[in-house]
Amino acid sequence: MRVLMVAPEAVPFAKTGGLADVAGALPKALKNMGVDVALVMPKYRDVDEERFSLRETGITIKVPIAGGSKKATVLKGKIEGNIPVYFIRNDKYYDRKELYGTAHGDYPDNAERFVFFSRAVLELSKAIDFKADIIHCNDWQTALIPVYIKTLYRDDPFFSETATVLTVHNLGYQGLFWHFDMHLTGLGWDLFTPEGIEFFGKINFLKGGLIFSDIITTVSKGYSREIQTEELGHGLEGVLAQRKNVLYGIVNGIDYDEWDPATDTYITANYSPEDIKGKAICKSELQRLYSLPVKKDIPLIAMISRLAGQKGFDLIEGAIDELMAMDLQMIFLGTGDRKYQELLEEIGSKYPKKAGVKIGYDVALAHKIEAGADIFLMPSRYEPCGLNQLYSLKYGTIPVVRATGGLDDTIKNFNPKTGNGNGFKFMDYSSDALLKGVSKAIELYKDKRRWKKIMQSAMACDFSWEHSAKEYVKIYNKALTKVGSN
Ligand code: ADP
Repeated sequence: MRVLMVAPEAVPFAKTGGLADVAGALPKALKNMGVDVALVMPKYRDVDEERFSLRETGITIKVPIAGGSKKATVLKGKIEGNIPVYFIRNDKYYDRKELYGTAHGDYPDNAERFVFFSRAVLELSKAIDFKADIIHCNDWQTALIPVYIKTLYRDDPFFSETATVLTVHNLGYQGLFWHFDMHLTGLGWDLFTPEGIEFFGKINFLKGGLIFSDIITTVSKGYSREIQTEELGHGLEGVLAQRKNVLYGIVNGIDYDEWDPATDTYITANYSPEDIKGKAICKSELQRLYSLPVKKDIPLIAMISRLAGQKGFDLIEGAIDELMAMDLQMIFLGTGDRKYQELLEEIGSKYPKKAGVKIGYDVALAHKIEAGADIFLMPSRYEPCGLNQLYSLKYGTIPVVRATGGLDDTIKNFNPKTGNGNGFKFMDYSSDALLKGVSKAIELYKDKRRWKKIMQSAMACDFSWEHSAKEYVKIYNKALTKVGSN
């Protein structure tokens, strides 16, 4: 089976969120199962040609856009396991400081940038003669590809045996653009209807993908159900409910080559379930890094997060004074919306002895936090999968999460009687519920014997990619049965 994985970002080349982790790791797991897989992404400024030993392929492709065409060149690199990675280069579109936009908002030409990318992917597969059984698209930036396959490329024999799978990593980001951008897409106005890619007068890239892909997946079973409801469907619940027969949830795996306290090169002392001593060293190092009093027995609660409405910072705002009245320390690492940044900075200056705040994107620090914290807090309003709670489990850092989406699927409440469970969940989206969840964890933390027990069951959880990759292969096989059927 041949799979072309198409992603707007991928680890280790460029990353803004969990999608990059998936796009970097899933191909490796597929390859291990015998799948012939290649990855395509844009060549952003962040993608370091020297560090990743990228080479010019000499291929130039003519990409149709806005009734004319523009050129792209192609660089090639690889990820572990000898998986080829193709980079679409057009410096006007991708040689920028950020991937999608700055603190002032999205880049105004994002429609053009990702129409170009989507069409370039199809032209590239022809140029390198990579006849994919499956084109696996990820999020709105790539969601027009299934639309193209079923419209402009419908009669192209090169794609006659190709099925498309679209994975939705976050339904909150849809690629919405004003109707004047239709001319960029090359698609006919007959598609600009509520049954097609129109969404309340705008073009909706993701909606196009949801309608035209052979199979839709999202990154947990829980989220696949939730997005069919008005509460979490972001206006697309009707489309998703219509396509529920081809909608599947597959939880993300995590890459234990990157995230394992026994081998992690970012952390001060390695440790494992058999010998956990190193974790205490990581904790004191972390307290020092955040200029907090270095104390062994105080529970240290951490959050690493994009600072976005989805992540529950309004609950933190409502609970912070009560949290800070408890015997605990809190640390934050994040970047994003200015209002949450200001909120965290305010917390840091109001409670300098109990709360530490670092604004920024820092992979090394993220590892140190996973290793050094006792408790990891994720009070998300919604969470398609969530990766940090999975990393936390591996590092024996106990998740306290709101029961939504992937958080609900992967975290099981600890039962002090049986000793089963790997964390704590709260249901209501409220500061009170958050406080109760944290209090339960703090109570258990005082009981050293039981805390050890929960750490052991957390560290024993296995969320490796192997299992999820098998699920994807099943889905690919299902998608193949649909080729040419509509
Ligand atoms: P999302 O994709 O919604 O941002 P996930 O939990 O699925 O949330 O994935 C977030 C990923 O980004 C994790 O790998 C996390 O460690 C990382 N991350 C988020 N914010 C930061 C940050 N400020 N510094 C370093 N890593 C971060």
